[in-house]
Amino acid sequence: MPRDRFGREINYLRISVIDHCNLRCVYCMPMRGLSFVPSPELLTAEEIETVAQAAVQVGFHKFRLTGGEPTLRPDIVEIVSRIAATPGVEDVAMTSNAVLLPRLAAPLAEAGLGRINVHVDTFHPERLKKIMRFGTLEEIEAGIAAAEEAGLRPIKINCVVTRDYNDMDVADLARRARERDWHVRFIELMPLGGGETAHVALAQFVPSRETRQRIESELGPLLPVPGGNPSDESKNFRFADGKGVVGFISPISEPYCGSCNRMRLTADGKFHLCLLNDDELDVKKALRTSGGVPAVAAILARAVALKPTGHRLDEGVSTEERQMFQIGG
Ligand code: SAM
Repeated sequence: MPRDRFGREINYLRISVIDHCNLRCVYCMPMRGLSFVPSPELLTAEEIETVAQAAVQVGFHKFRLTGGEPTLRPDIVEIVSRIAATPGVEDVAMTSNAVLLPRLAAPLAEAGLGRINVHVDTFHPERLKKIMRFGTLEEIEAGIAAAEEAGLRPIKINCVVTRDYNDMDVADLARRARERDWHVRFIELMPLGGGETAHVALAQFVPSRETRQRIESELGPLLPVPGGNPSDESKNFRFADGKGVVGFISPISEPYCGSCNRMRLTADGKFHLCLLNDDELDVKKALRTSGGVPAVAAILARAVALKPTGHRLDEGVSTEERQMFQIGG
């Protein structure tokens, strides 16, 4: 298993396959001033497969595809299938806004996708529109239904809690994890990239403690789920009569850097060492100069060794270079 210099086991690679998105969430992607990675600069499906092969060699076994919106890649089914077919890969998951899943959920499941996390901040149609700016609740609900139908279970719903946008809806979301076997996870806003989205993240921040209090005061006590994976960033609970799980992901109020097991690959081919830092190692050059699996494995091993100990948001240090849609969450 690859260990970094702080003894953490780093075995989970999150691969951003594209920086485009079909939504414009207020805390993630500005409406104007965007520039995207030109297509020839995106890693190809074959290059992503080479990275997966190298990652397995280094000791990684868990993979997640993200973006931007990963389903916007015309070759997303091929990418999933290449990673899933790589010997040593145990788990291939995806994070998506679900808009394109009615068409893609079944082929993705067939290609080897095991699980999907769907991002839904509220089931209130107007408030959702205000957050996402593009897209509709009907599209997302149809996507979730298609994912369930395709057997991509359990459905995990990611909700970023944003004051005055959706904090009034957290109990409604949590109720869905009581009635169904969904995992509904509430995420604290993180300021990335220093622009208008970082401003929203700082101004509209809601700590998980407050979200939990709101849920419990409306729906009753949440009971901790015992056991679980120590590197799961989510602290998990259930209602006594609940079918699903309610989780809280609190990178700001309760950082979990000490148990972080993640490495990230950006769509333009850089290992991004920590979500909330700018440190990166380029891998595309090695891929495009016929370095192949051994060269990529050497770069990834170096990236693991250099992974920072934790974020330094409390010292005012965050990413300057990249916003969330350019890393993938
Ligand atoms: N398009 C996909 C989606 O919507 O899930 C994948 C990419 S998106 C960047 C991944 C996750 O990051 C989403 O759940 C999104 O809500 C979350 N996210 C985006 N900006 C964030 C921020 N500033 N703080 C916390 N989470 C954020």
